[in-house]
Amino acid sequence: MPEHRRLVIIGAGIVGCSAAYHLAELGWEDILVLDQGPLFETGGSTSHAPGIVFGTNPSHTMSRFAQYSVKLFNDLTYQGERCWYPVGCLEVAESEARMREILRRSGYNTGYGMRNETLNPQEIQTLVPLIDPGAIQGGMFVPDDGVGKAWKLAGALAERAAKDGAVEFRGGTAVQDIILENGRVTAVVTDQGRLYCEQVLLCTNIWGSVLADKVGVDLPFMACAHHYALTEPLPELAGETRWTAYPAVRHQDRAMYFRHWGESWCTGSYRHEPRIVSPYQVGKDAYWAWRDDDFEVAIEDAAHLFPALRGRRYIEKVNGMFVFSVDGFPIMGPTEVPGFWVSIGIWVTHSGGAGKTIAEWMTRGTTEWDPHEIDVARFHEFQKKPAFVTARSAQNYREVYDIIHPLQQMERPRGLRKTPFHEHLKKLEAVFFASAGWERPQWYAANRDLLAEFEGRIPERRGWEAQNWSPIQGAEHLATRERAGLFELGAFTKIEVSGPGALGYLERLCANRIDRPVGKVVYTSMLNESGGIVCDLTVTRLARERFWVLTGGGSGPHDLAWMRRHLPGDVSVHLADVSSQYTTLGLWGPRAREILAPLVPEDISNTAFPYYSARSLSIGEVPAYALRVSYAGELGWEIYTPTEYGAYLWQLLWDAGRPHGLAAAGMGAFDSLRLEKGYRLWGQDIDPESNPIEAGLDWAVRSGKGEFTGRRALEQIREQGVRRKLCCMVFTDRQGMALGKEPIFAGDRAVGYVTSTNYGYSRGVHILYGYLPLAHAEPGGELEVAYFGKRYPAVVVEEPLFDPGMARMRG
Ligand code: FAD
Repeated sequence: MPEHRRLVIIGAGIVGCSAAYHLAELGWEDILVLDQGPLFETGGSTSHAPGIVFGTNPSHTMSRFAQYSVKLFNDLTYQGERCWYPVGCLEVAESEARMREILRRSGYNTGYGMRNETLNPQEIQTLVPLIDPGAIQGGMFVPDDGVGKAWKLAGALAERAAKDGAVEFRGGTAVQDIILENGRVTAVVTDQGRLYCEQVLLCTNIWGSVLADKVGVDLPFMACAHHYALTEPLPELAGETRWTAYPAVRHQDRAMYFRHWGESWCTGSYRHEPRIVSPYQVGKDAYWAWRDDDFEVAIEDAAHLFPALRGRRYIEKVNGMFVFSVDGFPIMGPTEVPGFWVSIGIWVTHSGGAGKTIAEWMTRGTTEWDPHEIDVARFHEFQKKPAFVTARSAQNYREVYDIIHPLQQMERPRGLRKTPFHEHLKKLEAVFFASAGWERPQWYAANRDLLAEFEGRIPERRGWEAQNWSPIQGAEHLATRERAGLFELGAFTKIEVSGPGALGYLERLCANRIDRPVGKVVYTSMLNESGGIVCDLTVTRLARERFWVLTGGGSGPHDLAWMRRHLPGDVSVHLADVSSQYTTLGLWGPRAREILAPLVPEDISNTAFPYYSARSLSIGEVPAYALRVSYAGELGWEIYTPTEYGAYLWQLLWDAGRPHGLAAAGMGAFDSLRLEKGYRLWGQDIDPESNPIEAGLDWAVRSGKGEFTGRRALEQIREQGVRRKLCCMVFTDRQGMALGKEPIFAGDRAVGYVTSTNYGYSRGVHILYGYLPLAHAEPGGELEVAYFGKRYPAVVVEEPLFDPGMARMRG
């Protein structure tokens, strides 16, 4: 009788073991965890890691993964041996820029509920006596971080998972292939024979692609060799019997980290060119040859911070490998192959939270914490190509400890995707930002002349907040509000849904009513079973059985994957990504109609072409389809045309618009316009963790229309009431500044963090959005927002700030 299991987890490192433990906790049975190595020191990354848990992270999800891991590890023992040491972790600053960065990072921690304090050099030396306080300016201490015995933590989780017989662990068994039947997982082939199963969870980390490639799933990461070494015993630590007793230290100015290890000191370094290794070259024990030349500079720099290390020999040397993905985040979730799940690229630090998340995902299809940054479905095609993967993985290794500005632009590869407007934009001296591979204008330097016109209405910025910013964004914003702006929107994702089942399919996926007359535009969310917002988009009915789903450029692959996963099992619905076939311009502003009308034979008056409707237009010679909607909150249209007409269409509109004062406007203006109008941005203000009620989007839900995904959960939430609300705030101090993710305080207590922020140029206020507990969510509520450690007063206000009566949009 061939062996059959409900689930096979491949990989018994800390990620596979954590997943198994959490699945068992959720009631799963009949799980087999296979590893090619011996259990639990398998030879994977977990076996090599020094086990430091530095939880500080700009991502809320990753921060929670780490915070949860620490709680989980705290009471784990492996074969009676303690595995976790809550010694805390320090980040120290040598440079002034780093000291400021530490204040910013302290802000994330505070906003995300992670205890931390900033310390001066003497206070740091009290915690770690070997540090030279003269070498640093200060730092941050996170008391709940610590150090774990990584592979023993994995073993401890495995012991718990196996305790009631729900999970079996088997070492010395290499998986060689994954078998699909009718496109779904049915078995794995191991070096011991074939094993049938319903599902596979791949936790093979640096080897990930070897098996994923066999079922056609791209995992865009590379393994990077990375080294650390232990000194010979130090006289300063003679007789020290504790495994680790002092906080671990990150010295990011020199791309290094340290920890105490018995009588030795451990130094890890990223200060060398990345040594990229293909998953196919990893070998069985994941060790790479030690390179003295890569570690030389680390030896010198370590002694600079820890003088006791000067002249000491490094005796234990490890050059292991770990995963660097193209965007630095883990790769998790359901793949396009039914039954095939992945959980790859996860540090020991995040392994607890990752295990909880993948287990929830596999059990109920949703997760407690927003998974959009880690979702395997998030990648664009170009991000999976080997040249891109190698370049970006290497760059992420180089930048692992760098100070990254929120608007920092990648230098290479650039120019990958260009809209048909590109040459026009260049002529207008567009300052391009890369977004999902597209070159998009952030502002146009040629608009510098507008600055004089709007003098006094665009606050100056200096230093950090002025980086990757221009006052011209403000001028483009104001020109749009007062006359009209031409926005290139070529990166939009356009998905065509057609067929006899299209309407029913969309009605089941969307929270708003889709069954409306041909030519109607509907703004809607797609919800998950918990009522969380998975997609935020518009649906336009082009014909009885033909719809366009329009969504952002960045979230396109994610949204498309969600839609594909929910297709009915028959051929009644056809889904096509037509993004490259059509391009888009936004023409918005009070003069938009005056500009467009002379170019079209059709009647575009408000009666003939009302708000939230769509129709074909002949714009000069150009066949176009226009939607009367505006993310800027103005009269105007999103205009779609086959891509090859794009450049010509731009010219037509440009020539017609110039006498009316039309300005080309970039994404910087786009963002401040949408924020004035209170439009939520998916991935920032709304995500699968937030529901339409707390996000203020209940107006776009039609619970009475019949069954749709998430409806029941939403009804329950409505009955029970929400605990938090997405609120609009403004600074009451003109000095107030924020760029996103800053902590929000009510008195001394951090009650949330900033999800979106920008200056509202036409309102003359700095706008902030964030979720607040109901007690603080009423207009008039007084709060403070900390920017680089300095607090600025803010107040909750009614939203939207601009045109609440919709007179502009409906005009
Ligand atoms: P692994 O531990 O690599 O487990 C994958 C498993 O899959 C292996 O056991 C392997 O044998 C098995 N496998 C592979 N292919 C097959 C197959 N075909 N069939 C069966 N089994 C297979 N993280 C931190 O948080 N803090 C640190 O201080 C830290 N320092 C590090 C230092 C070094 C030198 C290295 C290399 C990594 C470090 N990391 C650190 C990263 C961390 O160790 C890893 O990200 C983490 O351990 C990955 O866990 P995993 O379970 O996904 O992978």
